[in-house]
Amino acid sequence: MKVSIIGSGYVGSVTAACFAELGHQVICIEIDETKVEQVNAGIPPIYEEGLEELMQRHAGKLLSATSDYDYAVQNSDISFICVGTPSGDDGAIDLSIVRAATASLGRALSRKKNYHIVVVKSTVVPETTEKVVLPILEEYSGKRAGVDFGVGMNPEFLREGNAVYDFMHPDKIVVGAIDGRSGAIISELYRGIDCEITHTGPKTAEMIKYVNNSLLATKISFSNEIGNICKKLGIDTYEVMDAVGKDFRISPYFLNSGVGFGGSCFPKDVKALVGKAKDIGYDPILLESVINVNDRQPLKMVELLEQKIDRITGKKIAVLGLAFKNDTDDIRESRSIPVISELLRLGAEVFAYDPMAAGNMGKVFSNITYCDTAVEALADADACLVMTEWEEFRSIDFKFGVMKNKLVIDGRHLIKVKDIKEDIDYVGLCW
Ligand code: NAD
Repeated sequence: MKVSIIGSGYVGSVTAACFAELGHQVICIEIDETKVEQVNAGIPPIYEEGLEELMQRHAGKLLSATSDYDYAVQNSDISFICVGTPSGDDGAIDLSIVRAATASLGRALSRKKNYHIVVVKSTVVPETTEKVVLPILEEYSGKRAGVDFGVGMNPEFLREGNAVYDFMHPDKIVVGAIDGRSGAIISELYRGIDCEITHTGPKTAEMIKYVNNSLLATKISFSNEIGNICKKLGIDTYEVMDAVGKDFRISPYFLNSGVGFGGSCFPKDVKALVGKAKDIGYDPILLESVINVNDRQPLKMVELLEQKIDRITGKKIAVLGLAFKNDTDDIRESRSIPVISELLRLGAEVFAYDPMAAGNMGKVFSNITYCDTAVEALADADACLVMTEWEEFRSIDFKFGVMKNKLVIDGRHLIKVKDIKEDIDYVGLCW
């Protein structure tokens, strides 16, 4: 099939490369010309394991990019909207990027003779596809949805860091279409993937994505609250959650307490659902608490540090990990951002190391030192804060011995205490 993908960020690049791998002809539409050039040269605009290999294999053959909506729409049968849906100032969803992309798509559709399908893959609050995207398409194309063009919503559940694998091996595919014709054509694209397709209407598909992320975020905040209580009681919360997770109704996943969740999805998606609930006159007290607990966790790390060293002012603090999670260079809503801000506010000198995300964090903090290795960050440090679950931090090969004061605060429960041979003060955030 012939597909166009609007937006070449995390979701758009992975979707485009994976559809090409499934044998479809894919055209990416991107407003950032640098990304257009990158995709055409087979260079992924973002880092994801396995993405470069797919892009190199298909660029110039099944995969190309352009900033020209007309060209892409004329040369495809189905377009996926994969642009960002950030939080607005009040936390509710900001649909301005979706509206702009949809208007461009509508204009291009007005000049198209054949039937076309538009699919929203961006995460959007329930009712957006039918009450925002569809009317904009009709207005700018002068055509009628369900007659001249089809519309669907197909949420994306990939995990950054495992995005290519997750796209090709999903545990669910949800297709929410306005009619049977649209649903059948969208489903056909996934024929090469071994996964049952759940068919719904658009607003149910939109809701499934929010419930998925909100439930995972709730498990994390719940585990952090339990971890904070356990720490006060001198109970190892990981021992508790290990046993609790053996209940098949609960599962062992997402029960690890620590410094909280970040990334481009969980915080913004929970806030967007809170915003939507309030919009329709419902007070979502549980979802608001999920965000409140998460906002407090990173500051607990600095509180612990303050308890352990007299004054933070002038102290050298090593921060290990800047990405919001391991195996990505993405720093959006990374928990290291509020921690570093607080450290700087208190007058610390921050020496940070991350295997991939230092370049991106450089755009947020120009007043900290970025180190090339963990040992360089740790040398002569007064304390070390572990922020990201990178595999290389799991082994203590990088030697805490080079620190001036051997205090390690582990926000990810990563370092195995029994393996530590040095005489260090090792403090977990939640036990
Ligand atoms: P992103 O910001 O990384 O990428 C968006 C891309 O769209 C950018 O490259 C931007 O230049 C481009 N763009 C903006 N306006 C455009 C326009 N008018 N025309 C063409 N291109 C345009 O975003 P992302 O992380 O890929 O997320 C996209 C959507 O997918 C969001 O709604 C997000 O919530 C959702 N999502 C993200 C993930 C994830 O792990 N990142 C997972 C599932 C769902």
